[in-house]
Amino acid sequence: MSTFYHSTRSTHELLTSKQAILQGIAADGGLFICDNLTDKRLDLQAICNNSFMHNAVLVLRTLLDDFTAQEVEKCVEAAYGTSFDSPAITPVTPLGTSWILELWHGPTSAFKDIALQMLPQLMRVSRHGDGRNVMIVTATSGDTGKAALAGFADVAGTGITVFYPEGKVSDVQRLQMVTQTGSNVAVSGVTGNFDDIQTQVKHIFANRELAAQLAAQNIVLSSANSINIGRLVPQVVYYFDAYAQLVRLGALTLGDPLEFYVPTGNFGNVLAGYFAKLMGLPIAKLTVASNANDVLFDFIRTGVYDRRRAFNKTISPSMDILVSSNLERLLYLLSNGDCELISSYMTQLSEQGFYRISKDLLNTLQDTFACGRADDTQTRAVIHKAWTNEKVLLDTHTAVATSVMDAAQPACACRVVLATANAYKFSADVLEAVTGTACTRSGFEAMRELQRLTGIPAPQQLSSLHTAQVLHPHVCSIDAMGAVVSAACEKSF
Ligand SMILES: *Cc1c(COP(=O)(O)O)cnc(C)c1O
Repeated sequence: MSTFYHSTRSTHELLTSKQAILQGIAADGGLFICDNLTDKRLDLQAICNNSFMHNAVLVLRTLLDDFTAQEVEKCVEAAYGTSFDSPAITPVTPLGTSWILELWHGPTSAFKDIALQMLPQLMRVSRHGDGRNVMIVTATSGDTGKAALAGFADVAGTGITVFYPEGKVSDVQRLQMVTQTGSNVAVSGVTGNFDDIQTQVKHIFANRELAAQLAAQNIVLSSANSINIGRLVPQVVYYFDAYAQLVRLGALTLGDPLEFYVPTGNFGNVLAGYFAKLMGLPIAKLTVASNANDVLFDFIRTGVYDRRRAFNKTISPSMDILVSSNLERLLYLLSNGDCELISSYMTQLSEQGFYRISKDLLNTLQDTFACGRADDTQTRAVIHKAWTNEKVLLDTHTAVATSVMDAAQPACACRVVLATANAYKFSADVLEAVTGTACTRSGFEAMRELQRLTGIPAPQQLSSLHTAQVLHPHVCSIDAMGAVVSAACEKSF
């Protein structure tokens, strides 16, 4: 049976997964989704006997069934074959009587690598036969830019341009980007804040004159942000693979339930868990963990999504989000594909800043999803406790979810926290939490001190950064961003 993708807001246009991956977002502003996920059940027994690589092939072939077996196998090998520093790719390790699913073993030490190592491979195959070159343009507040650069560097037929707000990312994050090698990459700081840059990127996408110019050169612009279905699907893999590891570790017997605690921002990661549940993984509960930006926490308890609130800057910056795009896909699935309803919620959100879902829909939501939140003080306390009691070093995002787990009523015996970044990515805040005293050191000094204190080595790709060569020193104004994209196209294709 063939799987088709269409907008969450209408079913007029049916696309293959390759078309949906290339297009990114539907013309009506909705997100691409497929139906009948419950008909795509995977054989758990087979999953449990498989490696991560095999499970990735199985999941991808099921959800992206216009790719051939050979295409998927090649994509999986190219994405995960050599760029992860653990043979398990996403190993499960103990934390007291619970478990941690380590999603940070990729080239940029954050979980976005799992999706962003795969997306360029999927795009490379998808554009085959159409022959156009794809230029990815991305605004980043820190983590996504580097993960996208690492994934797209030197992938044939693609180029990537990343813009970051000059002076508003950490030392480590900036160096990760400006030292990126590759013949098809461009990186520029921009004088402005993240929202201004994001807005200008949207203008670049909407600029017809530029689009026509690029089309004449056989180039199309695209985005690597997390609304692309090609970023969501690879994340389903590790939910199944974690189950397989836990069965092999003896923590689960085949068929037993488990529950996941997920540090959440844009709702992509936890939504992939819901896909896994619909596809037959016995998930008792998915718990959404928020920091002080608790719009999802309120939504899951009350059914009211209200973004009219202050934005908080926290020590878990990758979760500092007020509009969780992927929630739209969840509402589509929970409402059995009621496009009209989803459209009306999204219109209310953009026009009035909030919407309220029906009581029935809220009940269905709460059958699977729970929520919790942790502020910076609670987050630091959990990092301190995990290090002191268990000698486990948690990053600030993982600590938010761990704090939520500690406070929650267990839904079943097997509890898993998703670890979304290596602790050294946020060295200064983690050091402060471990020692209990304020940290005034630079990112690299904090990294060295944390290594000295814990004896746990920082990932080589982070510790080697301060001696790496800066290849992209440029900073431009908002108005000059379009010219930077044009120059990047010249360089790449
Ligand atoms: C992006 C990110 C998150 C949030 O993931 P979503 O899929 O947006 O919910 C959490 N932790 C880290 C470290 C991240 O980079």
